[in-house]
Amino acid sequence: MTVFNLGSINADLVYRVPHLPEPGETLASTSFTRFLGGKGSNMSVAAARAAARVVHIGAVGHGGDWMVDRLTEYGVDTREIVTVSGESGHAVIAVDDHGENSILLFHGANTCLDPEEISGALAQATAEDSFLFQNETNAQREAAEAASLRGMRIIYAAAPFDADAVQDVMPLIDMLVLNEVEAAQLEEATGLSPENLPVKDIVVTLGSKGCRWYETDKGEQIDVPAIQVDPVDTTGAGDTFTGYLVAGLDRGFSMRQSLDLATKAAAIMVTRQGTADVIPDLKDIEDARF
Ligand code: ADP
Repeated sequence: MTVFNLGSINADLVYRVPHLPEPGETLASTSFTRFLGGKGSNMSVAAARAAARVVHIGAVGHGGDWMVDRLTEYGVDTREIVTVSGESGHAVIAVDDHGENSILLFHGANTCLDPEEISGALAQATAEDSFLFQNETNAQREAAEAASLRGMRIIYAAAPFDADAVQDVMPLIDMLVLNEVEAAQLEEATGLSPENLPVKDIVVTLGSKGCRWYETDKGEQIDVPAIQVDPVDTTGAGDTFTGYLVAGLDRGFSMRQSLDLATKAAAIMVTRQGTADVIPDLKDIEDARF
């Protein structure tokens, strides 16, 4: 089956600096590297590395072709990525000698999507397919409605967290994936803890503690512990986890099998520096012999 992922595509522009710039300061950086980033791209790459068929729905702007090429190279179907006028989404990331960072995000093309084009892309989907989305694009509600009409499995990763955005799509989704902080923010906004939310499956990721799956209709909770590793860089762990989880389900694995696979992939991910470019594949998981 196919995972249709409506998601952001960002250029991560990483500048090494001796210290983070003060207001009014002009600071020379000591190095510059450009990476493919954005939660959407990361999840598409993760799902593709988990051997799912992945169609990415999104947009780039001026100078964004290299990101589309990179996604294609990583096995993602990029035919539904459109090019719009204006700038591509990007993050200007300053990292100092202590590893502290400051991030300036520009959504650019990611929030210039046409809901009708998204519905058009989803017209090829069936009830056997999955629809994944996050909170870094526009047209989330319209897209989830189109996916719902086609009877797709709908998964929402509630990041970056926005209480209104989650509540807007909650009636349409089958599964919600969020981290511990986001779960607390949602509880604060709705007064509801995960087991009481009106969504069938909820997965709360708990960093080095693993994750908890709430099967709300059965009133059950299942804990999946994390795999013990020495973390190097936890950036992208959640995106890798979600991409793998959705890929597993889409490929017909059980929820428990998919959570185990996602846990293994995320454990390898935290031992690596970087994001989309270093997301592990199934062979890496096999070789790790967890
Ligand atoms: P996010 O990156 O969205 O905040 P988490 O930090 O909860 O998400 O991490 C997502 C998943 O990655 C966890 O459920 C866990 O399986 C794995 N993970 C995160 N940190 C570690 C760690 N230190 N050791 C092993 N696995 C980890």
